[in-house]
Amino acid sequence: MNAEIIAVGSELLLGETIDTNSAYLARHLAGMGIGLYRKAVVGDNEVRIATMIEEALARVDLVICTGGLGPTVDDVTREAVARAVGRPLVFHPALLEQIEARFRSFGRTMSPSNRRQAYVPEGAQIVENPVGTAPSFIVSDARGTVVVLPGVPSEMRYLWEHAITPYLRDERGETGVILVHTLYATGMSESTIGEIIADLMEQENPTVGISAKRGQYELRIGARAEHQAAAAALVAETEATLRERLGEVIIGNETLEQSVVTALRARGLTLAIAEATLRAPIWRAVQATPGGGAIVRGVQLWQADGAAGAAAERADAAARAVREQYGAAVGLGACVGDRAADGFSDVWLACDGDLGTHRWSRRIDLNTDEGWGFIATSAFDTFRRLLGEQ
Ligand code: AMP
Ligand code: MG
Repeated sequence: MNAEIIAVGSELLLGETIDTNSAYLARHLAGMGIGLYRKAVVGDNEVRIATMIEEALARVDLVICTGGLGPTVDDVTREAVARAVGRPLVFHPALLEQIEARFRSFGRTMSPSNRRQAYVPEGAQIVENPVGTAPSFIVSDARGTVVVLPGVPSEMRYLWEHAITPYLRDERGETGVILVHTLYATGMSESTIGEIIADLMEQENPTVGISAKRGQYELRIGARAEHQAAAAALVAETEATLRERLGEVIIGNETLEQSVVTALRARGLTLAIAEATLRAPIWRAVQATPGGGAIVRGVQLWQADGAAGAAAERADAAARAVREQYGAAVGLGACVGDRAADGFSDVWLACDGDLGTHRWSRRIDLNTDEGWGFIATSAFDTFRRLLGEQ
């Protein structure tokens, strides 16, 4: 079974509300082995929602809508679904009674507009909503099935877990699983990695995808199978191939930062950091890594605009001085050189102490946050290599 998700709500299109419901549904569909082809967001407009549902039904067996089931006139998902499947909305007195009872239970009277929520398309399977007023429903025709869930995240999750998952597993026999496993890589360009594993990236199952972030890569293996064990076996097979082809480039199951922090901790090595910029890219990356703060003995930051002397020598001196000052096993220094006409700067890094005395540089475009992040990646990359050589 393959699916598409349609998130309904004009607030989502205005960027006011982030569509977290789709991310939740996407994760849970993967967990059930249902392939997700697309996610879409549409405003509270009956015709546009209906068109989107019809387009999705032409491609997949299962369309999941979330949002637009409220009592106000701007919530039009139930009308849109009725239009898409070509059926009238039918009033259900029992549903109205349930909605009224829910209002009574917290001491309020139901307003007339909630009456709208007791309508569902003819022939739809009603999914009662014990955690809110908007009932949910499932409607099928020859093209496929439309599952309609409320937009309030807690209600949507509750109904997904307690009603839709059992429906898909027990009534529709969806018993599969998609297992996703991420490997981290660094030290080679994305295009070169892409060429080495092109055939794997073209295969259907497991799928292999790559995404880049600050010179580091996430290689995602997604395997679809009937059972967890079978999916795990498929993942393991592809992981072995990736490791064989990419060798040293694969860091493992941890990010570059995490693997370096783990290795430093395992060897009892402490760190002192000196950065000639208040942006502190290295310290920030260390701090953001679980366990990172614990290995740091001290940090020095200063703004080095127009500092005297070459950045290379200043980085050396900073690494040595900060290590001595804080009594750390390893000192790490970073200094930014002058910005060249092309906008790039030479960034010098140096370390001193138990990983040896080394100095290296990278030419980085520091006009973006991404660029500053590369300074940390370069520091961790070198540490990874030095730790590997020890
Ligand atoms: P609705 O069912 O459209 O009346 O939505 C009720 C509330 O749920 C909205 O005001 C949003 O705050 C929230 N909501 C709706 N759709 C989503 C979504 N896709 N992701 C996260 N929150 C949502
Ligand atoms: Mg809405």
